[in-house]
Amino acid sequence: MTDLPTPTSTPPKPGQLTFTAPRRGKPPRHLADLTPSERREVVESLGHKGFRAKQLSTHYFERLVDSPDEMTDLPKGVRDDLVRDLLPTLLTPMVQRTADDGETVKSAWRLHDGAIVESVLMRYPNRVTICISSQAGCGMNCPFCATGQAGLTRNLSTAEIVEQVVYAARSLRRGELAGGGDEEERTTPLRVSNVVFMGMGEALANYKAAIGAIRRLVDPAPDGLGMSARGITMSTVGLVPAVDKLAAEGIPVTLALSLHAPDDELRNELVPINTRWSVDEAIDSAYRYFQATKRRVSIEYALIRDINDQAWRADLLGRKLTARGKGWVHVNPIPLNPTPGSKWTASRPGVEQQFVERLRAAGIPTTIRDTRGQDIDGACGQLAASTA
Ligand code: SAH
Repeated sequence: MTDLPTPTSTPPKPGQLTFTAPRRGKPPRHLADLTPSERREVVESLGHKGFRAKQLSTHYFERLVDSPDEMTDLPKGVRDDLVRDLLPTLLTPMVQRTADDGETVKSAWRLHDGAIVESVLMRYPNRVTICISSQAGCGMNCPFCATGQAGLTRNLSTAEIVEQVVYAARSLRRGELAGGGDEEERTTPLRVSNVVFMGMGEALANYKAAIGAIRRLVDPAPDGLGMSARGITMSTVGLVPAVDKLAAEGIPVTLALSLHAPDDELRNELVPINTRWSVDEAIDSAYRYFQATKRRVSIEYALIRDINDQAWRADLLGRKLTARGKGWVHVNPIPLNPTPGSKWTASRPGVEQQFVERLRAAGIPTTIRDTRGQDIDGACGQLAASTA
């Protein structure tokens, strides 16, 4: 892989935030970047009949096909043209690693300009979740997250985000993901039921592309993949204006707020964006999101030994959440996953349990998040495009 162009982001200084992604060559235009009416316009401007747009969408979003050979309802010349102009290759598979007996698969993808992103596909008893990237790198610089340490290379386009899900859907159709209990479960074709924006990047800092991707995921086939909005989770450090904007879109995706500390002093260090929008402002925006969408919000909290796992912090978090209301939120603590160069480690099991119990005692539903793919650097906070 040494002949690949190297992405040119510089590692950020501690606490430094990067909002503007470096400008690089735009990825080629793709069907999944476009709304249904834009697709029609583009297809017509290329000299084809407008209804070809729908045929192409059916192949891509419904049949999950991108090879002209399989588009037999289109005249040969037309399909070659349309595929060349609207279904260019955006993601090239580099390396795949599996864990958890084949039920977790991490894929690294090379983008057209050599930038690398990763996605992680996970099979559970009743669902299949894909964790996708929205940026190459990340500008939010959380010191416990491997992605943040390398800085922001660039924003992904809508289609680069959608393609991660489409590749996964194709792979499931081919029966490539291991697992499943009984015979019926093993032989029923799987679908991607959940998409979480918890891979590389802060999706709300790449708002336009992220919301475009969400629309492609939830639009009914053949305009989009026809997924349920409830199966999609947008995870954010708490970019307050963007959270409010998302609440107003009318697409009830689940919101996850990466809080990690209930007090500004510590959160300023763990989640540097806190110096812009404080703990209270972030929690307020999450509460407004709940009011607007009626979707219960989740609070993410990576438990870091002796840093943020004290009983008083559990109590303070419980108070801050219940002060806003009841039944609007649940907490998802996750034991910190180790990352290179970080001195921090996961909380002791007894401390973790105590943290959970104190929140529950305050009336906050709390469940420890299952963590997958740690041994392949595929777990939360470990995606750094180190494909070795
Ligand atoms: N930018 C988004 C998505 C990031 S990854 C966000 O911050 O929410 C998804 C979750 O993994 C976030 O809650 C993030 O804080 C958490 N995370 C990052 N590094 C981690 C680590 N080393 N161990 C456990 N969770 C981590």
